[in-house]
Amino acid sequence: MADTGRVDGETTQVDAPDETSAFADLGLRPELLAALSRLGYEEPTPIQREAVPPMVAGRDLLGQAATGTGKTAAYALPVLQRLPDDRPGGDPLALVLVPTRELAIQVSEALHRYGRDLGARVVPVYGGQPIPRQLRALAAGVDVVVATPGRALDLLQRGSLHLGGVTTVVLDEADEMLDMGFAEDLEALLEEVPEERQTVLFSATMPRRLDSMARRHLRDPLRIQVAREVPSEGEAPRVRQTAFVVARAAKPAALGRVLDVESPTAAIVFCRTRDEVDDLTETLNGRGYRAEALHGGMSQEQRDRVMGRLRSGTAELLVATDVAARGLDVEQLTHVVNYDVPAAAETYVHRIGRVGRAGREGVAITLVEPRAHRMLKTIERVTGAPIKVERVPTVADLRARRLELTRAALRESLLGDDLERFRAVVETLTDEFDVVEVALAAVKLAHEATGGPDDEEEIPEVTLRPERPRRDGDRGDRGPGRPPRARSAGGDTERLFIGAGRSAGVRPGDLVGAIAGETGLRGRDVGAIEIAERFSLVEVPAAAAEEVIAALRASSVKGRKVTVRRER
Ligand code: AMP
Repeated sequence: MADTGRVDGETTQVDAPDETSAFADLGLRPELLAALSRLGYEEPTPIQREAVPPMVAGRDLLGQAATGTGKTAAYALPVLQRLPDDRPGGDPLALVLVPTRELAIQVSEALHRYGRDLGARVVPVYGGQPIPRQLRALAAGVDVVVATPGRALDLLQRGSLHLGGVTTVVLDEADEMLDMGFAEDLEALLEEVPEERQTVLFSATMPRRLDSMARRHLRDPLRIQVAREVPSEGEAPRVRQTAFVVARAAKPAALGRVLDVESPTAAIVFCRTRDEVDDLTETLNGRGYRAEALHGGMSQEQRDRVMGRLRSGTAELLVATDVAARGLDVEQLTHVVNYDVPAAAETYVHRIGRVGRAGREGVAITLVEPRAHRMLKTIERVTGAPIKVERVPTVADLRARRLELTRAALRESLLGDDLERFRAVVETLTDEFDVVEVALAAVKLAHEATGGPDDEEEIPEVTLRPERPRRDGDRGDRGPGRPPRARSAGGDTERLFIGAGRSAGVRPGDLVGAIAGETGLRGRDVGAIEIAERFSLVEVPAAAAEEVIAALRASSVKGRKVTVRRER
């Protein structure tokens, strides 16, 4: 754990999951503890254990953590904790800067949920939303502003955003903000916040440019890093590790598909919160699986009953939180599923250690939302074991698999069953039909009788671009108002046409923001951008073109639906 009096530059690494502590041990106030319990969070994630106490104490912090680690709550809880009870003024006390509109909305929702009992007033401000609404929200009084840098600066210059009372500034996904050309905006904003303040910076990577910015603006920061070598405990388990990249909305369907193809004898599906456990258990049961929930909100007796059902084979799936599954040993277990990328590499290792015992091969499956793919890379690096990213089974794969099961069942019947009593049926029919046709009809009936969910909808494929080594100076200098610097994204690229341009107020940052916020791409993956009067052209990696088109069509650019297609 972090001790105090740490010198600048010293780095603390997160602890292994067995040294866990409760949220109450982090010194959080009852209103926040109540919110966390209401949300079904059972224990802090490693980054939260490390970051919350020093932040509550007012210390500056430099955290290297990607999406999926629980970094938002790691800074949001202390920000809320530090709000004074007596807040007569209307000006913000905390400023959170984020790269995209989507993240601004997400973070402000999180702050709102955690801070409900404290009456925290949280306002998101971002490009693309009409300014008057944001002006009204700010004028009504606010405790925490969550903003994209361009819009924050805009409001500051109009005199609508007052930063004189800000005591905490958080820069979230700072590397992304630099990639999107927000460096100057960030500098200008930090100049406006009183020097006597707490500054906290979170970033997935720590390029040189960011490090020098941190040196200038953070005072004696505590450095926290999520990734560290995981010591291998004896012989590594034999586990086939795969991951599927899917959008959040498609996850239940994707899980169903993967389970259908894998047909586990017994599996544990890990979720982050109690609510997620309950929801997913219900969904899976609705889809015909025999799933049982296991979480910290259940009595010992209930848990024993669930475990009994799993051991006896009455249940095939256990949907659980880490806390509830701790110490649990099920011999029949063949599969471990991470419904989300775990918040720390150690958690991943602990989870998958439950299969692949005693020389049998186990399977570990991880569902990855596009934004969390960074964390998957971190886990891969830290555990030293490759995780193969596979395509979610398609409708065709699933059909093939179901036919295979029917074929296997028929074969078994041919080998073992007494079929004599059906001979008369076949013989009567062969007077009229060919014997193969009779067989085909029988197979069809047998196949249909096995039922199975007939979900014919394809799950949209999400592609990830492989990590590119970072080079300083490799990033664009785009920013609001500045002309885009033409550059190539490297590798195969495609140009996309977007039916909105200068006349609609589109700026490069809006397009990069919309793409980075809605797909697995990062700001720097987006290539040259041209903004014409009535349309824009954006270069994206060819492999991700379909995904970007689908994502932009489903969302909006500058608040409007626009045409998006390949440029011909
Ligand atoms: P983040 O890394 O901040 O994007 O958070 C990833 C997800 O984890 C969010 O959906 C949070 O609601 C969730 N989360 C954060 N902290 C916890 C926790 N201690 N227990 C369970 N879920 C959490």
